Amino acid sequence: MLSSSTSTLRLHQPTRGPRRHLLPPASHQFRSATASRRLPQRGGTVIRALDAAQPFDYESRAAGLLEDRQRLKIAIVGFGNFGQFLARTFARQGHTLLAHSRSDYSSLAASVGASYFQDPHDLCECHPDVVLLATSILSAEAVLRTLPVHRLRRNTLFVDVLSVKEFPKNLLLSTLPPDFDVICTHPMFGPESARDGWDGLPFVFDKVRVGDCPARRARAEAFLNIFEREGCRMVEMTCAEHDAHAAETQFLTHTVGRMLAMLELQSTPINTKGYETLLRLVDNTCSDSFDLYNGLFMYNKNSTELLNRLEWAMDSVKKKLFDGLHDVLRKQLFEGSPHAPNTTTVRK
Ligand code: NAP
Repeated sequence: MLSSSTSTLRLHQPTRGPRRHLLPPASHQFRSATASRRLPQRGGTVIRALDAAQPFDYESRAAGLLEDRQRLKIAIVGFGNFGQFLARTFARQGHTLLAHSRSDYSSLAASVGASYFQDPHDLCECHPDVVLLATSILSAEAVLRTLPVHRLRRNTLFVDVLSVKEFPKNLLLSTLPPDFDVICTHPMFGPESARDGWDGLPFVFDKVRVGDCPARRARAEAFLNIFEREGCRMVEMTCAEHDAHAAETQFLTHTVGRMLAMLELQSTPINTKGYETLLRLVDNTCSDSFDLYNGLFMYNKNSTELLNRLEWAMDSVKKKLFDGLHDVLRKQLFEGSPHAPNTTTVRK
């Protein structure tokens, strides 16, 4: 079933078991030959210096082991803006990184300690624990189809970070072999909004398919733990729920940001806080590629309705303003005039 590479063996261990499970039995601790240097007897108890230190020594070694077991070999496919942003944190946490993309990012990858593979066959032959799909929404299907998944281990974990969720879920389930695990995720932040860290920022995930064996569950937890360790607010929800919410939160935000950008707003000497919020919104949204924004529209079925509602909202606000203006104009035109029509009648 599983191959016996060292990284696979690691996956057979629980990732977050209580530390005491990693300690050897007490009898073994005291059997170890360290008793030669004895401290003075006190009240009949012999205290052996090294024996006394041993439980602590084991504990720190166990903690080290625990770290090792959480460490994953992650292949990032799509090493653009967001893939690189994630890679920096993965590398800081000590994971082994591989990367592949359409463009040549070999020197950028080297700068974060990732091995870069121009050829996806070479990447897959490295047998990563996790393949992380971080390509654009629009290119996801084509990119996935270029991956020689038969070269991967039989139960590799696939994770996507696309900003829409139902589309990649269906794509991964229909394209990957049934033995592969699938987790669909959306870190709801990016290089701009999370430049000071990920603490408190929402991370949405759906464990779409995780095989029912300890090693596979442990691997899934080790991956999710990357975000938990950074302080993300972990939000488990279905891909469909995500897309319904994201149309309102993300697509609306990006649309308003892009509309404001069309106005070419400039900073002024009398900026209010509200106006500065708008300027920041333009920066935050327009620093993402248009492909990303387009993907939010094309691949979330809730986005069209949101656009229609936005248009209706703009029309309603305009109508309210113009109705008020017409009332004032009519008053000015007709009030006091012998020919003035009854304004109540006019309004009807
Ligand atoms: P993006 O424009 O959505 O995607 C850029 C990536 O897609 C690059 O790796 C690029 O490869 C690849 N790509 C684009 N067209 C391609 C094609 N025709 N064939 C092969 N590869 C292609 O920008 P991004 O910000 O890096 O986002 C990447 C993914 O993360 C997206 O799915 C996005 O929804 C998601 N995401 C982004 C953010 C964010 O804040 N930016 C946050 C959460 C999730 P090359 O660079 O090699 O050309």
